[in-house]
Amino acid sequence: MGKVKSFAAKVAHDLSTSGKVICPVCNTEVKKIKLITNKKTDGTWAPQKEYVKICKCNEADILAGKNL
Ligand SMILES: [Zn+2]
Repeated sequence: MGKVKSFAAKVAHDLSTSGKVICPVCNTEVKKIKLITNKKTDGTWAPQKEYVKICKCNEADILAGKNL
């Protein structure tokens, strides 16, 4: 019980103090970026703002214009 509790407390502490999210897969900071994408709505294409989380895992795809 003690170990579980301290682990949870550490995670909460990290999130509240730094505001950083580290991707568990690539171990780099996950950043939120604003992306303008074109989406087809009712037969017309319209630019749409989107917030996406980006890290080493998907930055190449996102910067290449792919949507994941
Ligand atoms: Zn990642």
